[in-house]
Amino acid sequence: MSQIKFFEQVNKNFDRAAKYVKYKSGLLEQIKICNTTCHFTFPLRKDDGSIETIHAWRAQHSHHKLPTKGGIRYSLMVNEDEVQALAALMTYKCAVVDVPFGGAKGGVKIDSKKYSRDELERITRRLTFELIKKGFIGPDIDVPAPDYGTGAQEMAWILDTFQAVNPSINSEGCVTGKPIGLGGIRGRTEATGRGVFFGVREACDQGDDMKALGLSKGLDGKSVIVQGFGNVGYYSAKYLMEGGANIIGVAEYDGAIYNAKGIDVEALFKHRNETGSITGFNGAENIKDSKSVMERECDILVPAALENQITIDNAPRIKAKIIAEAANGPITQDAHDFFKDRGALIIPDNYLNAGGVTVSYFEWLRNLSHVRFGRMDQRFEENSARRMLQAIEALVGDKFPVDTLSKLVQGADERKLVDSGLEDTMITAYNEINDIKNEHGIDLRTAAFVSAINKVAIMYEKMGIFP
Ligand code: NAD
Repeated sequence: MSQIKFFEQVNKNFDRAAKYVKYKSGLLEQIKICNTTCHFTFPLRKDDGSIETIHAWRAQHSHHKLPTKGGIRYSLMVNEDEVQALAALMTYKCAVVDVPFGGAKGGVKIDSKKYSRDELERITRRLTFELIKKGFIGPDIDVPAPDYGTGAQEMAWILDTFQAVNPSINSEGCVTGKPIGLGGIRGRTEATGRGVFFGVREACDQGDDMKALGLSKGLDGKSVIVQGFGNVGYYSAKYLMEGGANIIGVAEYDGAIYNAKGIDVEALFKHRNETGSITGFNGAENIKDSKSVMERECDILVPAALENQITIDNAPRIKAKIIAEAANGPITQDAHDFFKDRGALIIPDNYLNAGGVTVSYFEWLRNLSHVRFGRMDQRFEENSARRMLQAIEALVGDKFPVDTLSKLVQGADERKLVDSGLEDTMITAYNEINDIKNEHGIDLRTAAFVSAINKVAIMYEKMGIFP
């Protein structure tokens, strides 16, 4: 598995799409290449007094727009190839959803489960110092975010370390995915999964595409299996269930569960928090071979763990008609081609998991503007709506029920504005790539790459670099 070169896979997809754009090979090469990569090594003093050497990388794939943006992951699979591939995916993803950043990615080669909280704090703070030293972090340079194995706590340590060295007015914008009290934004934690839901729902609303798959239009009643029940997997499953889908299987690294009648995602989340594992969940069958649950009959498979989970080895046994790539690079190119020949619909990662960076963009804007979304206009909107409804009441000589009135006058707060911006972004981008898909008769992944290449190339042309 580890021999699969991830960056090569991304570039193969790029090359496929390059046939549908009009740019010269030199410009395409410039877009494709990873602009800068840094390998850091530093010592960690462990709780038992021993010293361990930590390896970390940060890749900035494209400087066509600044800052560059991308998560930091903590995983034993991290290496230079992986961060470059993920950084490249970030460039294309940001372009697809019109988020004005270049792509970046970082990673620390550790299994975060094997370190104490204090050790993780020391690793994260030291990594931040290394990034500062090399000019690899800053609100206008490169802005990390959470990814596999990291979350709001790591982002808080990064912010605190950065601000200790750079106490500037915009320093809060040096990292996103922060806790709310430290300049984070409501809706960031769940954003990637929420975006996955909007994207899958939009795909299921394309009547002709569903007909071609032998499925009914709409998300309602569709059966779903999810691999990975971390941040992205949990929130994807939660919102898909709330949107009417039936979650029938969930796979984790230590086992899987299955129930054809459906799994209550919230109850499973609680069970995992209490026991540390999804297995042993009441009312579901335990499956030891975690990966095999992905091969069960279902309408939608959502890989939400790591890359290269679906290869040509297991693809022929996978029965899902829609594969929704919540994780980055979960399907190898040969497996992708296999599904394409079989007529399955793949909703690609470089579109589908863009919810995280979209809301990170909103968070960064909030940090630079120093004002919470909705602060200036929420009350104004509510008072205007109330005055209008009171005028209607006076005209008709009757009163609205109190409950109806309070619902009608609700102005938009930060959470609602973020959700609305995310929904709009995911729907608009889906329709853009779907139109490209239909125009050229290509798959959605290639269409997303075509969309991204066109948007990045225009930037270089505007700079006059490749007239
Ligand atoms: P996470 O660490 O919160 O969750 C990942 C989960 O996958 C964990 O629960 C882990 O135990 C599980 N897992 C690991 N190996 C597994 C295996 N072999 N089988 C089944 N489960 C396994 O990470 P995350 O933030 O949810 O990221 C998941 C994927 O989504 C990654 O590919 C990441 O790059 C991508 N992604 C994340 C974000 C974000 O905002 N967090 C944004 C875009 C893309």
